[in-house]
Amino acid sequence: MSHDKCLCDFKIVGEDRGCYYDQTDRCLIYLHHHESLSDLYMTVQHELIHFCLAKIDETDDMDEVQEESLIFHMAWAEEIL
Ligand SMILES: [Zn+2]
Repeated sequence: MSHDKCLCDFKIVGEDRGCYYDQTDRCLIYLHHHESLSDLYMTVQHELIHFCLAKIDETDDMDEVQEESLIFHMAWAEEIL
């Protein structure tokens, strides 16, 4: 299933900080794994980048580790440059 928009749901408890489901274009963000609002925003941004990469079909050429590494480097790019 492919949507033009990503649905972002928030849950109190979960196994991870967040996850993206490309089958439904949905992000789940687990609140109890975050220490601040800015920490929460970073996770939302992380999951939305998964959505964007899937939208432009970039994930077809990457495995999961490569995708996570790309998003990690994107998150730190401003600090490094
Ligand atoms: Zn991720």
